[in-house]
Amino acid sequence: MVLIGGRCVDCGATLFPVRQRCTSCFGPRIEKASFPGEGRVVSFTIVRQAPSGYFGPVPYVVGNVALSDGISALCPLTGRDVEAWHTGDAVSAFALNVKVSDTANRDVLAFRPSTGPEKRK
Ligand SMILES: [Zn+2]
Repeated sequence: MVLIGGRCVDCGATLFPVRQRCTSCFGPRIEKASFPGEGRVVSFTIVRQAPSGYFGPVPYVVGNVALSDGISALCPLTGRDVEAWHTGDAVSAFALNVKVSDTANRDVLAFRPSTGPEKRK
């Protein structure tokens, strides 16, 4: 999966998700950029108490994933037991379908264990 973000035309900073202005120089000239959806878990936490308005299962894991080009994403981590995650785990992006109300679902960016040859450092 390829992730769509932005790159500042003026200073070259990478932005994910894309923003109206650069978070480094505050310049307005942002071009679209694509990034590989592969990364490594930098940190994570196990959420055991469902927040208000959350309809999914608990416990679940939310992790900070370092991607290429200095970008990162804070997203759900799925695909293994919540106690089995480690920092440094290789992960791949995918669209996780979550229930957002009694009648609606939507896709959110999430990561699951990478199936590539390089799994963990
Ligand atoms: Zn900039």
